[in-house]
Amino acid sequence: MGLPGHHRTSSDKRKRSAHFGLKAFQPTVCPKCKKPVMPHRACEFCGFYKGREVVAIKVLKALKPVEAKAPKAKKPAVKKAKKEAPVAESKS
Ligand SMILES: [Zn+2]
Repeated sequence: MGLPGHHRTSSDKRKRSAHFGLKAFQPTVCPKCKKPVMPHRACEFCGFYKGREVVAIKVLKALKPVEAKAPKAKKPAVKKAKKEAPVAESKS
């Protein structure tokens, strides 16, 4: 069974763990749409990678005609009929 050859000082531990931290995300720029993208991945906005479309972006294309449509005509406002107060029967 292996045993530690030397005592690890607290300083040794701290020096080793100095490289454990995560580095900040460094985005690259998509050559087609100029948006910040993850490096070595297809652009999530236009689907291009290495100068050709590798992912068909269906959602964005489907949304465009919806935006171009004119807003629907509003239904004529129907006033809510007020509930008539029950007529109290008066005993005379
Ligand atoms: Zn792009």
